[in-house]
Amino acid sequence: MTRIFSGVQPTGHLTLGNYLGAMRRWAEEDQYRADALFCVVDLHALTVDHDPARVRRLSRQAATLLLACGLDPERCTLFVQSQVDEHTRLSYLMECTATDGEMRRMIQYKEKAARERERGGSVRLSLLTYPALMAADVLAYGTDEVPVGEDQAQHVELARDLAMRFNQRYGQTFVVPRTTLPVVAARVMDLQEPTRKMGKSHARTAGVVYLLDEPDVVRKKIMRAVTDAGSDVVYDRAERPGVANLLDVLAACTGGDPRALAAGYDSYGALKKDTAEAVVERVRPVRERHAELAADPAYVDEVLRAGAERARRMARPRVDAAYRAVGL
Ligand code: ADP
Repeated sequence: MTRIFSGVQPTGHLTLGNYLGAMRRWAEEDQYRADALFCVVDLHALTVDHDPARVRRLSRQAATLLLACGLDPERCTLFVQSQVDEHTRLSYLMECTATDGEMRRMIQYKEKAARERERGGSVRLSLLTYPALMAADVLAYGTDEVPVGEDQAQHVELARDLAMRFNQRYGQTFVVPRTTLPVVAARVMDLQEPTRKMGKSHARTAGVVYLLDEPDVVRKKIMRAVTDAGSDVVYDRAERPGVANLLDVLAACTGGDPRALAAGYDSYGALKKDTAEAVVERVRPVRERHAELAADPAYVDEVLRAGAERARRMARPRVDAAYRAVGL
């Protein structure tokens, strides 16, 4: 059976980008067609300046939201990364497989490191080695497919390279995984800066729709989205990124095709209004279910405990084999 692994970082409140790019597919498709593991990757949240209490709170909230999106613990394995030691054990072997040059070439590293420096802060070494831990996350489980948004594709590529290099040097140990992207909305853009992806840790939040935003806040953010010069509605991601982004979001929420949808609008106002309503409707059941689950923390705890136990059992033999293969 196909094995799937994917994760989400507790670095902020989960966004519409996380949902459309990744989580929704996990819940609606992946868990039904494969042996799937989904992980709140809390160790990755420590790669930038972090507040311990906030990370703990956001990890819990992310797990609760994943259940609210429809992940069924009877069908998939949901757990928190730091509860399964195999990730850090294998991460070290990945650091011993990768080169510093390939780590420095990662776009996310360059962007996040530049931002930290702009703020006058220093860059944590773990921000550079992040892809080694992510490769470990994926490879520990013999993963075939990694369903992610476009921004993570480069890291999965690196995980593939590391798996192949390790296998060649030390003998067949890892499955070489591949990325799967959503058909539309693989990269949801910030509503205020449509040339930048919508990210949960952005300082300016006006362009970021969070899954737990009140419906009226969602409407306001979408109605105030930056659109492009001109007033005709065409789908052109390079020249008209603001409008194309709204069309992508609308298409992803309603199941349509962004180019075909464009033909049905002659004003930005109408497009924004329909997009706002489509998002509110899409997210409504998730918000409702989240409220129920948040009132039952013992249930969420039990799901995560059982998930970590299952994940440990799955990862252990492969990570042990990797240690033996390198001569330890
Ligand atoms: P973030 O950048 O919001 O911190 P994560 O690194 O936690 O996101 O990613 C969780 C999943 O959500 C990944 O599969 C990632 O590719 C996807 N994702 C994040 N932002 C977006 C976006 N703006 N559009 C589409 N997918 C996204």
